[in-house]
Amino acid sequence: MIIGVPKEIKNNENRVALTPAGVAEFKKHGHVIYVQASAGENSGFNDSAYTNAGAIILPTIEAVYEIAEMIVKVKEPIASEYPLIKKDQLLFTYFHFASSEALTKAMIERDAVCLAYETVEKSDRSLPLLVPMSEVAGRMSIQEGAKYLEKPMQGKGILLGGVPGVNPAKVVVLGGGIVGTQAAKMAAGLGAKVTIMDVSLARLRQLSDIMPANVTTLMSNHYNICEAIAEADLVIGAVLIPGAKAPHLITKDMLQLMSPGTVVVDVAVDQGGCIATCTPTTHENPTFVIDGIVHYCVANMPGAVPYTSTLALTNATLPYALQLANKGWKKACNENEELKKGLNIANGKIVYKGVADAWGLPF
Ligand code: NAD
Repeated sequence: MIIGVPKEIKNNENRVALTPAGVAEFKKHGHVIYVQASAGENSGFNDSAYTNAGAIILPTIEAVYEIAEMIVKVKEPIASEYPLIKKDQLLFTYFHFASSEALTKAMIERDAVCLAYETVEKSDRSLPLLVPMSEVAGRMSIQEGAKYLEKPMQGKGILLGGVPGVNPAKVVVLGGGIVGTQAAKMAAGLGAKVTIMDVSLARLRQLSDIMPANVTTLMSNHYNICEAIAEADLVIGAVLIPGAKAPHLITKDMLQLMSPGTVVVDVAVDQGGCIATCTPTTHENPTFVIDGIVHYCVANMPGAVPYTSTLALTNATLPYALQLANKGWKKACNENEELKKGLNIANGKIVYKGVADAWGLPF
């Protein structure tokens, strides 16, 4: 199959959908890979790394869309890319159709085959192509939290791990899923005193078994959250209720319980946030202060570490992309239920119920 890798053009998107290692893998299976010039540059891969692996570099995005049977991307196509997409072209990328009616209608109109990373689903209902980005964001939340706890960044001026003879900082993690687990591990590794909270007792039991001694598990309820945040130096929001907005576990009034200079990193901000006062921010201007509390609410945290994020994402996407290239999308989806769940639009129709329901379109 002919594979095309365009350069991402969405604002501040520095990841690339295929690494030189991925190119080599496709090549081994007899495919032809075209990569747009400088597509991997912001992730640390220059054009010669791609040509050495066997790719052909094309100068423009138009040339890549023109020649490819399958386009492998990171983010959904933006409006300027819509006219480049050809009938029956297979697009494998994050789409998040339920958040854009224009994108949904454009892909139907272009008659593209759209396989969305975010809805590829395993039989245990886990989402293998979302997990890597949650791992990145979870680990990064502590790195960012530690930075904004510094006095010049308007934080309390406390070092997460303390030093011999001085208490470490207290970190509260709301939500014990992928993001929360990675955050708790990082904070614990730095020597902080960590409390991780979840509503699932089964999950708390698992966490209690695997976490080091400086991590305490606690049932997530209003009473316990009030007590925990009153003591906290850093609070991480990592709650997810699938298919719904995140619950506001910390209201504006509850900010009064926290001492000035406390930092909140609301990773769940992309789902509305679990701290009521959080609104999405960007890497250029990541924080704001309300009632003395420093809020960090960047909605695309992995974007700041494109090298790690690209490798983490492509580790997860490559095996699926190879199946699509080796078998064609119809056979690959028929033989693999996980991939089939990723199919959102095919033959000019929406084939994923959640997307049809979101826009009242036929399914
Ligand atoms: P997950 O499903 O693995 O974990 C969510 C956890 O929240 C579950 O363990 C669940 O039991 C728990 N939970 C639900 N209600 C709760 C409550 N009231 N109190 C405490 N815990 C509760 O999800 P995840 O992959 O860890 O993702 C967490 C959030 O981070 C999502 O909103 C995701 O979209 C977001 N995210 C953001 C970025 C970013 O760049 N900002 C990147 C990746 C993920």
